[in-house]
Amino acid sequence: MSTLATPRPDGLPFWLDIDRPRYPRLEHNLTANVVVVGAGISGLKLARCLSRHGFDVVVVEAGRVGDGACGRNQGCITHAAGSYADFSQTHSRELARDLWRLGLESHRLIRAQIEEYEIECDYQVSGLLNLVRPDTPGWEQQLAAYRKDCLLLCEDGFDAVMLDADETQERSGSPFPVAAFAQWEAAQFHSGKYVIGLARGISRHRNVHLFEETRAQRIELCGNTVRLHTSGGVVAAERVFLATNALAPQFVPALERGLRAERGQVFVTGPLVERPCHGCCGGVLAWWREIIEDDGRYRLLFGGGRRRDEPDSLFPQFTENGLPHPQLESEGFRPSSEHQHRLDTQFAIFFPHLAEVPITHRWGGLQSFTYDDLPMIGEFDPSRRVHGIAGLSGKGNCYADVGAEFLAGQAAGVESDIEIRYGSLIERVLKPGRDTANWEAWETTHRA
Ligand SMILES: Cc1cc2nc3c(=O)[nH]c(=O)nc-3n(C[C@H](O)[C@H](O)[C@H](O)COP(=O)(O)OP(=O)(O)OC[C@H]3O[C@@H](n4cnc5c(N)ncnc54)[C@H](O)[C@@H]3O)c2cc1C
Repeated sequence: MSTLATPRPDGLPFWLDIDRPRYPRLEHNLTANVVVVGAGISGLKLARCLSRHGFDVVVVEAGRVGDGACGRNQGCITHAAGSYADFSQTHSRELARDLWRLGLESHRLIRAQIEEYEIECDYQVSGLLNLVRPDTPGWEQQLAAYRKDCLLLCEDGFDAVMLDADETQERSGSPFPVAAFAQWEAAQFHSGKYVIGLARGISRHRNVHLFEETRAQRIELCGNTVRLHTSGGVVAAERVFLATNALAPQFVPALERGLRAERGQVFVTGPLVERPCHGCCGGVLAWWREIIEDDGRYRLLFGGGRRRDEPDSLFPQFTENGLPHPQLESEGFRPSSEHQHRLDTQFAIFFPHLAEVPITHRWGGLQSFTYDDLPMIGEFDPSRRVHGIAGLSGKGNCYADVGAEFLAGQAAGVESDIEIRYGSLIERVLKPGRDTANWEAWETTHRA
């Protein structure tokens, strides 16, 4: 297929193909109030919130800022995971409503950071379309389910609308989908510019010290102090915050039951004169968005191409001997040819008219999913004072901000605004280690 023209062979994401500032390596032992592991959006937001409570914060990042999933994603800001109607049924309507509000709150916090740090990241409220494709088995049921979601969301005063075939095709840029469930308040940004802008802003706080190329290796509690052993020295602190996403179980193995490491894969086309679509679009096996270039041209970012149980996208944390599995990092971030084939097949279906367009970037990204598609935010291991955010389930922009505000407030013993409004929801529904998040149910069904 001609779209396989020479993408960057190193798997560098389009979002990271820009100038990035460098931060120093840790080269000596340090003492701080708190230490954050991982400089993706979760770690950086945690550092921001903790520093605002007056903590002296050290952040250690194994690679460079943005190297994780946050520099490899679709860059879409949505307000909840999964179906509103299903969630209302399995839990309660009230809980579904509260979670949606939580997502809106996170979005508000993202906008506040963009303004405060003056991050130029092409932020745009351009909507999200959930597409219905008529060749997918069960598409009529899917359409009915979207209509139900839409109705309930409207009843609860949220933004949602169903689009007919003409409007769906015009906005999605594809002649294929026949209907869409649209949320106009969803937004998109340039994921790389955003995370780098966040790091720049945070590193201006006097009490934040950010180190790159500094890998955390082990956490131990010695008396009253937590010692984080890293490749560059030991950081002694009162507590540790893990923001290592799919790699969180490497430090707290008990989390493995609830956090499944899954690779996503994406590509970006070369510049296009015609606008390929408007905002973010997603179906069962494919999703895409447009990228608007400075010169007024566009690119199309296209991802998906996998079902949840696609074996080549699932990665175990440990080998049989209990050692960190080597494939987790070596292959979790690299595009695979099987995945590429599936992605290209979807692209050919949805965008037959773009078959000749060159592809400039292809990459993989490791993320962490829970069985109930909700994140884990809270105490990961009380015996070593490890707290954290993980299992963002493809929705980092929806939950990382409220998670960071909540955890920082708790560490400071301050009843923050987020704690007052959402504290009990986060503690009840997003608690690490909860049974509904565990993959054992999935394992039982799929191995039977
Ligand atoms: C293909 C794809 C599409 C996505 N699309 C969207 C989307 O449109 N909207 C959305 O909201 N979410 C999306 N997501 C999910 C989103 O990107 C993640 O939820 C989010 O980036 C997680 O942020 P994080 O900071 O927790 O983790 P990451 O961004 O993965 O950062 C973790 C960091 O920890 C570092 N680290 C790991 N181990 C160590 C160690 N031992 N020592 C020091 N540092 C360490 C890593 O190097 C990394 O920088 C998508 C993800 C993928 C892969």
